[in-house]
Amino acid sequence: MPELPEVETQVRDLQVVVGKKILAITSDTHKAWKPNFAASQQLLGKKILSITRRAKYLIFKLSGEMVLVAHFRMTGHFLLAKSAKPLERFIRHSFQLSNGVFLQFSDIRKFATLTVCTENAYQKVCKLVELGIEPLEKSFTLAALQQAFKNKKGMLKALLLNQTIVAGIGNIYADEICFNAKLHPASRVENLTQQDFKNLHKAIQQELRKGVKNRGTTIGEYVDTRGKHGKNQLSLRAYKQHGKLCGVCGKTMQKMKISQRTTSFCAHCQQKR
Ligand SMILES: [Zn+2]
Repeated sequence: MPELPEVETQVRDLQVVVGKKILAITSDTHKAWKPNFAASQQLLGKKILSITRRAKYLIFKLSGEMVLVAHFRMTGHFLLAKSAKPLERFIRHSFQLSNGVFLQFSDIRKFATLTVCTENAYQKVCKLVELGIEPLEKSFTLAALQQAFKNKKGMLKALLLNQTIVAGIGNIYADEICFNAKLHPASRVENLTQQDFKNLHKAIQQELRKGVKNRGTTIGEYVDTRGKHGKNQLSLRAYKQHGKLCGVCGKTMQKMKISQRTTSFCAHCQQKR
């Protein structure tokens, strides 16, 4: 599933279509459109004013105070094409733009959503108001992280996956962050020390920035808008590394389930609190 670095990579690539108008929309998967496919017609003739990200959501602000919010879920991603010809087998939607570019949306699993909304309603409709702090923003200070975890109880990894605390982290980066911070993913957050929070704060930023720098992690389907794989999967230290040797201490990496997700970690390097 695309996480913050993968969505951020798409957002950066898509800046080339800011300022262009949407001339036509075709779709063979109407159920992806919220509230319904008919609403997509409200986007015709609208100009793309900005493309930004919030957590794992991609937000197109359009003229006429319209907003299109894309959520990739399992396998969604945009591709930039020079013609209407589908670049991939699973193109579900295509936006013809005024510069001759076709913004195609691929989604093998068909779980992705495209929500058409007005400027003043989209945050509430798409539940963006419920999301936690953005870990790559300046506002993500150590104090902000501690505040977000204040009075929270449970396993560290489960809380990292909770989008209402820190936004944008999924299964891959959660494992990498716990490894980087030298914290066992099943640590109780109520037992974390001040130093643990410092390590966690640094690890969250380092791992997400590394993911963005490497243009995302391709495990399965994720590609950028040119159809190219990311590179971050080549330098993962924890995610799916169970059974392999820890890159730091050489002991065998282990696995367990947390929030129904397979979690890999080094029991020697990662302290349990
Ligand atoms: Zn180790």
